[in-house]
Amino acid sequence: GGGPNVLEVDGLVVTYGRSVLALSGVSLNVPRGGAVALLGANGAGKTTLLRAVTGLLPLYDAEVRGGTIRFDDRPVIGRDASALVRAGIAQSLEGRRIFPELTVEENLRVGAFAVRDRAAIPARQAELLELFPRLGERLRQPGGLLSGGEQQMLAIARALMAGPELLVLDEPSLGLAPLVVAEIGAALRTVTDRGTAVLLVDQGTALALGVTHDAHLLEHGRIVASGPTTTLLADDRVREAYLGTR
Ligand code: ATP
Repeated sequence: GGGPNVLEVDGLVVTYGRSVLALSGVSLNVPRGGAVALLGANGAGKTTLLRAVTGLLPLYDAEVRGGTIRFDDRPVIGRDASALVRAGIAQSLEGRRIFPELTVEENLRVGAFAVRDRAAIPARQAELLELFPRLGERLRQPGGLLSGGEQQMLAIARALMAGPELLVLDEPSLGLAPLVVAEIGAALRTVTDRGTAVLLVDQGTALALGVTHDAHLLEHGRIVASGPTTTLLADDRVREAYLGTR
């Protein structure tokens, strides 16, 4: 598709089980090559939205009850996570859930499972190791021996091995030191500069400010404010949402 948005979410309603309403009519767009942050307190529905976009709701006994999601002008709902990776939506949602027994390089190869052009994989890996030099220094080490920050870098790099058009991230800065967060932010800026769109959930403000242009504030499953990330992060409602959790 050639529209201005790579991702369009319109009126999305999601429940867990039969009754827990997690999203009640959420609409947002991610422009092609753009970077958008989703802000909000614990339980607001941020992770649920990311699960919907990446095809992971069925794993959590959750269901779409209304609305639509379109990626590249094609419907997303009903397609499974690996089909969506092949279509161009890569994600790192489960924090640092890398494979601890596999080496760094093997972890990266796992991320390339859906790549049809196998000959392109070494060049992509080399490009990602330039982006995350620490991973290059540790290619043959088991992933489990990396520091928390390095494991987060590996999780992001693994997702990028798929060569996605959209990268979806949940709390990549959680528990990491400010210097490491800055390193990850610089890498993600390069990623968006090269044309990959990003949809980011992060409770820290550093990545949202450093990487995204636009942001939305979720409250109890609804978007209650939207705007440039800098403006929104200065909003009292956002400050309150964050103060409520940290
Ligand atoms: P957090 O930062 O705590 O993850 P969040 O903004 O990502 O918050 P969600 O995790 O999307 O919020 O949760 C939205 C709502 O859905 C909450 O009411 C939560 O209790 C509920 N919920 C989330 N996961 C499940 C689940 N697996 N089963 C049942 N209810 C769930």
